[in-house]
Amino acid sequence: MAEPSTLTAKEFRTEIWNDWCPGCGDFGILNALHMALAQLGIPPHRTAVFSGIGCSGKTPHYINAYGFHTLHGRVIPSATGGKLANHGMEVIAVGGDGDGYGIGAGYFINAGRRNLDFTYIVYNNGVYGLTKGQASPTLRKGLKTKSMPEQAIIDGINPIALALGAGYTFVARGYALETKSLANLLARAIQHRGTALVDVLQTCPTYNDLQTKEWYAGEDRPDKQSRIYKLEENGYDPVVHNPADEEEIVAKKAQALVKSYENGEKIPVGVFYVLETSTMEDELSERNPEFAKTPLAEADFSQRDVSPLFDELA
Ligand code: SF4
Ligand code: MG
Repeated sequence: MAEPSTLTAKEFRTEIWNDWCPGCGDFGILNALHMALAQLGIPPHRTAVFSGIGCSGKTPHYINAYGFHTLHGRVIPSATGGKLANHGMEVIAVGGDGDGYGIGAGYFINAGRRNLDFTYIVYNNGVYGLTKGQASPTLRKGLKTKSMPEQAIIDGINPIALALGAGYTFVARGYALETKSLANLLARAIQHRGTALVDVLQTCPTYNDLQTKEWYAGEDRPDKQSRIYKLEENGYDPVVHNPADEEEIVAKKAQALVKSYENGEKIPVGVFYVLETSTMEDELSERNPEFAKTPLAEADFSQRDVSPLFDELA
């Protein structure tokens, strides 16, 4: 049995000044990530957090771990490179909905079919917060936030459905303002072997005045019931129990797909789908056992003759 973690969330905090707007849902995600890393006992020197551009892109600055703040939409290729170079690291990619589902959409799709072992957390607030609140790819048609001159004339995408179709082997949705359950969800995603997506519904009080804390809490509804509900409390089972059974995989994906379209008066959070199957690291290790033994970053190339490679490229 694994030893209980002795790390605390405090050990993952940094002294860097945080300039997110007061009340931003990003704080909930950051705190949940600190808690998840402490809970799992992954030390800072074994953790690498990659980010794209956007308010969420500042996350690595606020986590005591290795950090890599890359170009707009390029967080997935950067995290992929990081994991391939050093598979001994716990790699976590973070970014906004505009960064991941808009500008980086091609990378988002192709990460799913590789099934490399890392976690991708998307801060989904329906707007491009850093550039003053334009509609992002998840804002639904007909909605108009206070930052938009007109209502959205094109529809939003369904990230959970896209992830299922792309081949992600762990697909989940969290809510930024329920920090404790989000921390547990992130811990589960990080522990999963394979590419995990956690789409986190995140409030942006500065630009999105529609999907607010009060709206998620259902304060505008006659019954005052929260719009958020937890999948697992309704007996939902996301796990493929026999990964060799194609029919079960399809059935579990179909079940998750139906749930992913509940996005109005009731919004499910939790794990939608889990499949334990071979990862890209497994495939690479099978072809080259050296890869499994020593991460590329630690391999000794000093005695290796690389001239044939240069000859080939000449
Ligand atoms: Fe958060 Fe929105 Fe402010 Fe960005 S603009 S820090 S997402 S509240
Ligand atoms: Mg956004």
